[in-house]
Amino acid sequence: MIGYGRNNFTWNGSLRELGGSCPVFCAERRRTSMTAITSSCSGLEVLLSTLQNAGDVESTLNVLKVLDELLSAGTDRRFHYMISKGGSEALLTALVKFGRSFSPNYTVLLPLLQLLAKVGYRDCRIGMKAEEAGAVLLTLNLLRHNVKDDMRAAACLWAIQVFSSSVSTANLIGENHGLDVIFSLIPHYTTKHLHTIKAAIHAFSALLGTKANVRSVVSKGYISGLLQLYKDWHSKDTQHVATAICHVLLCCLHKLTHITAGRQAFITEGGLALLYQTTQTCLLSKCLESLVEPSMQLMRKCLPRTPLPLPSDLSAYTFPLPGKSNGMADVDAALDESGKDSDEDDENNQNTDSRDYDEDLETDLNKLLSRPDPDRPKYLLPYYSFLCPELSHDFQELDLSSESEESSSSSSLLYEEDMLLHSLLSSRSRRRSSNSSTSSLSSHTDTAASRTYTDTSQIEACDVDSQSSALSTSPSIRTMVRAATDKDGSPGQRKHGQDDEVEGPEEESHYSTTIDRLLEKHGPRILHHEPKLYCSTATKTKSIPGFNVLAFPDFWGHLPPPGCEPMPPRKANIQRQKVFQDIQRFLNLADLINEVVFDLEDSSVESRCDSLKFFSKFECGNLRKAVQVRRYEYDLILNADANCSQHTQWFYFEVSNMVADTPYRFNVINCEKSNSQFNYGMQPVLYSVKEALEGRPHWVRAGTEICYFRNHFCPVRGRQRATFYTLTFTVSFKHTEDVCYLAYHYPYTYSALQVHLKVLQQSVDPATTYFRQQNLCGSLAGNMCPVVTITAYPAKKAWKDMHQLRNRPCILLTGRVHPGESNASWVMKGTLEFLCSNDPVAQSLREAFIFKIIPMLNPDGVINGMNRCDLNGKDLNRQWCKPDPILSPTIYHTKGFLYYLNSIGRTPLIFCDYHGHSRKKNVFLYGCSVKETLWQSGSTVDTVGLKEDPGYRTLAKILDRIAPSFSINSCNYLVEKSRSATARVVVWREIGVLRSYTMESTYNGCDQGIYKGLQTGTREMQEMGAKFCHSLLSLIKDTKAVYSTRLIKHVEFDHASHNCFEDDEPPCVEEIEYSTNCCALKDTDLDSEVDTAIAD
Ligand SMILES: [Zn+2]
Repeated sequence: MIGYGRNNFTWNGSLRELGGSCPVFCAERRRTSMTAITSSCSGLEVLLSTLQNAGDVESTLNVLKVLDELLSAGTDRRFHYMISKGGSEALLTALVKFGRSFSPNYTVLLPLLQLLAKVGYRDCRIGMKAEEAGAVLLTLNLLRHNVKDDMRAAACLWAIQVFSSSVSTANLIGENHGLDVIFSLIPHYTTKHLHTIKAAIHAFSALLGTKANVRSVVSKGYISGLLQLYKDWHSKDTQHVATAICHVLLCCLHKLTHITAGRQAFITEGGLALLYQTTQTCLLSKCLESLVEPSMQLMRKCLPRTPLPLPSDLSAYTFPLPGKSNGMADVDAALDESGKDSDEDDENNQNTDSRDYDEDLETDLNKLLSRPDPDRPKYLLPYYSFLCPELSHDFQELDLSSESEESSSSSSLLYEEDMLLHSLLSSRSRRRSSNSSTSSLSSHTDTAASRTYTDTSQIEACDVDSQSSALSTSPSIRTMVRAATDKDGSPGQRKHGQDDEVEGPEEESHYSTTIDRLLEKHGPRILHHEPKLYCSTATKTKSIPGFNVLAFPDFWGHLPPPGCEPMPPRKANIQRQKVFQDIQRFLNLADLINEVVFDLEDSSVESRCDSLKFFSKFECGNLRKAVQVRRYEYDLILNADANCSQHTQWFYFEVSNMVADTPYRFNVINCEKSNSQFNYGMQPVLYSVKEALEGRPHWVRAGTEICYFRNHFCPVRGRQRATFYTLTFTVSFKHTEDVCYLAYHYPYTYSALQVHLKVLQQSVDPATTYFRQQNLCGSLAGNMCPVVTITAYPAKKAWKDMHQLRNRPCILLTGRVHPGESNASWVMKGTLEFLCSNDPVAQSLREAFIFKIIPMLNPDGVINGMNRCDLNGKDLNRQWCKPDPILSPTIYHTKGFLYYLNSIGRTPLIFCDYHGHSRKKNVFLYGCSVKETLWQSGSTVDTVGLKEDPGYRTLAKILDRIAPSFSINSCNYLVEKSRSATARVVVWREIGVLRSYTMESTYNGCDQGIYKGLQTGTREMQEMGAKFCHSLLSLIKDTKAVYSTRLIKHVEFDHASHNCFEDDEPPCVEEIEYSTNCCALKDTDLDSEVDTAIAD
């Protein structure tokens, strides 16, 4: 039998069995030693039954003692075993039995309540069980009768704390004024009865788990009382013995501020100032460190919601849409859509866990395998035959066997820029051949010289000077440029400089000649870029506001900086410091300037003479408003996508009037994404005009003290639940009075693309390369959408050669459907340049394939500095299922072209849409696979009989070996329902392109391979574009086209495969959100609380 006395109880057997009675061990043991188990199980059951039934004090005490020792000697498993055997119910029954007595016996009740607290702490159903047993109000009554008795009150409070884990139980206690009783037990600072005080605060905090209790407590004005308590305990507890009490007080405040009234009360009762001040003290002492984070979170959460200082949430840019009566996009519809909007690139927001993701996978086999009917009648397709000029081209030049230019004979579009370009190129080559005299040439003679070298009168019509003056750079640049010429100009130029005071047409023309001179003297020699051609091209670019100013970097050009740019490590507690400064805005109003210094919609705004000057009214520019907050701090507000009220992320603006070596803090306050690579080593990019004029025309990664966190701003109206995030960074400029540009990422304008294509066309060797640029269609704003065809010129006009040409498989590449993803354009630039190069691999690819490239699917979005949409306010990469011919013309016609290729039996071998990814590092591919989608979703569909060509994986495997930025581990081939209208999925499903991809490039850098820890630059992006082409070599064999093993050797296998499985970004060291459920405030261990209280 089992003895109840400590000394004669058979511990060992019972302990072992209890310890081993978790389900894992049980089954086996049950079979092998049935008898032992039966006896020990029944041993516990006997104990519990004794507890429930024995009326006498002595046996109850004995059982409690045994149980307590049994449980405290082991792990949590014993508790759970006991709970599973009805332990909680037994204790509750005993409690009710002894507690109901007219004069309760506390000799039994005390250990009973203590054990109940420990067991209940682990029993998630303890609240319900206590209610059923009638123990809840009984315990509250016991507490009422014992408020003066320390130990008894504590025991009741522990029980109440654990009972309150159930909402209904907590509400029951609240309704019976339990909160008032308990709150009255929390005194001001004292060194006595700390255990009881702690127990009271914990119980109070536990009761605040329900909305009803929170409302009741807030309405009774307890926040003021709690703040007073916190202040008192915090200030008087100089020995830091009661830090835990302060902690729980903060936890109570956190719970009370879940509701609006709570946050308001916190502010009106001076909570912000109090916590700000106490937190300053906490920072001085290591012991109080644990109070800092909860205090910060509490303050952030309670900062009054402040609407953005804007007239409207709608974009400053609106565009009248065809067919819309009010000329505006349906704003509400756009808003509705936003809720579920997330990107191909983008990364479901954080709250989407993997389970949700799996649910998003397409598991309908019919949808995965069947091909939908075309979205348009067949007779519309032949229209697109014009986009395959190489198929009908007669290559007559081959007969003439001369080097006459293909472009001049076939191009139907003769642009004056072509002429200009021609003249520039010829004058440049002339200059290069006689560069000794170059520097002494004045711009006038140079222009004259260039005229001499051109042979037609048409050049006169596009005089270089008049072209460059048609679009000028911004006023601050003019000043700078003047300064630069004055500094190193000849005496004659200085004389001109003196006349500069007078603004007017003369000044204008003088300015353009100055630019010419500067270009001549300092102009960078950037491959495939022509500043003057850029000017003349940009004049034709159609923007909503009618831009008439060029951003200097786009005009002048950019060269990748010589060194590499590592991701800077995050400074410890950087977010904390920034948030402190933000809180100060509410406390030290006298320090604030709060003056608007730039407003896109109000040109009358003048900045103070000692403030920075901002400007963004140029192609790709995005900055809507700048507010000087303090002497060296500015809030920046980004412009929403045109005809729309959201999608802020991309920025690009000019800043001037700075003082060198002074840290300026910039806060972009209306970011929308819930996290950003800016928290993981990414920096914005900076371009200095002074540096450029000194021969360093580089966009460089810049900015320190960078972090990204949720802020207190909210939209002007509507979407009240929407929140914004702050991207903050600090820049110390190198030069005083410089003109600089800051951007989210390396800008790449629509005009830059056009110039690039023109220069590229001129650069190809027409004897080997067929290069043809055409217009797919006009955009909504009337900009053309270029389509480029690149393939090899046939060697001879023999039937065999022509047959080979006309049977080359097609590869279709597209990009920049999302205008904020400028990285996609840089990768595309690399692809285009490589394909046009003399590299033998490129030559081989041209001989094997016909490349059809649509480098910018969303010209209007790019031009107007938008981030996500087109002028229709829609994400174009969600329009592929049924693109509207009027509202989404580029998508409609790209898809039409694909249908056409399909109809003539020339379905592309590869389709790849270039994107940028804002949340991940590296470059990677998304593709489509039926089998992988079904496997991943855990679908029960039998995939054994399903045949799928595994070729969709080849490119990624090759890229992983040859492209340093590429990471195969980030690739996937899943078909998601939410992506069913994206290019990748539609081209795969409707056009039947097996290898249909999205290529995602990071904005930040790599966490693997030889670029590990480095931020990516334009050089690396262009390299990626070239490596993508290299990987296409692998297909040549497949297609049984021209193939040479020699060429494979040419591909450098420049780094080892990096098959390391690294997790996606680890959590940020600081909480970006503040709405988290006071996670910094973990309850203390109730066991030790109870035990130490008893021991004392
Ligand atoms: Zn994208």
